[in-house]
Amino acid sequence: MKRVLIVLAALISILLVTGFYAWDWYDTKKLEMPDTYQTILDRGYLIAGVKTDTKPFGYKDNDGEIKGLDIDISKAIAKAIFRDETKLKLVSVTPSDRLIKLTTGEVDIIAATMTVTPQRMDLIDFSHSYFLAGQTVLVPVTSKTNSLTDLANSNIGVIFGTTAEKNLRTLVPTAKVFGYRTYDEAYSALKRGTISAITSDDTILRNYALNDKSVRILNKKYSKEPYAVGVRKGEENKKLLEVVNFVIKTLILNNSINRLYAKWGLI
Ligand code: GLU
Repeated sequence: MKRVLIVLAALISILLVTGFYAWDWYDTKKLEMPDTYQTILDRGYLIAGVKTDTKPFGYKDNDGEIKGLDIDISKAIAKAIFRDETKLKLVSVTPSDRLIKLTTGEVDIIAATMTVTPQRMDLIDFSHSYFLAGQTVLVPVTSKTNSLTDLANSNIGVIFGTTAEKNLRTLVPTAKVFGYRTYDEAYSALKRGTISAITSDDTILRNYALNDKSVRILNKKYSKEPYAVGVRKGEENKKLLEVVNFVIKTLILNNSINRLYAKWGLI
């Protein structure tokens, strides 16, 4: 009987010790996330989430090539990493899917007219800001609208997931809000007369007014929208964020950012 008890005690001890080590090993593995910068180097190219319907920040030209200020910034980051700006894959994102595409690892960075907000800062990290926009309104030239409050009882179009969508519900709570996935869908709805106005960033909406004399933007700004590059949170993303910040600071310090603004008609 005594021998049986000794064997049992020994077996239980072995199980406890191996269990402890197995747990410890599992826990350590879980914490060892591969460094994102190293993963990008090993892969051989950077993956950037960019807009494809937001001229002049990220859009498809007639040949299907994706261009814009956000693409030039992504190229500068790829160049800093690989000394070759072509080591870059562009993935199309919208305001409603860009955060999920970043946090799930589908893209390494987001350079997509994305405003830094406290709510977004809870989910991701932001680089230094590289552009300042502001919320305004696009209406038909025939519209009598002079401010957002004139639209208190109108149908107003917003792009799902934008800061303007959220601001509008506070600024004009009585407006009927129509949400669209892309700017082009919202613009078509404005042209059809389904909505009386679109509200979003001035620099994005101005482009529609420049190309179509039947629409105009209001001379008012309802917010400050500092754009920055988004990177995942966590220690393993710190090196990548440092590189992104270095690139943006350099673009600002050596004045290249102003040349880029001029290239894309932003100044
Ligand atoms: N900058 C705004 C935002 O981050 C709206 C522009 C956009 O992302 O399309 O929500």
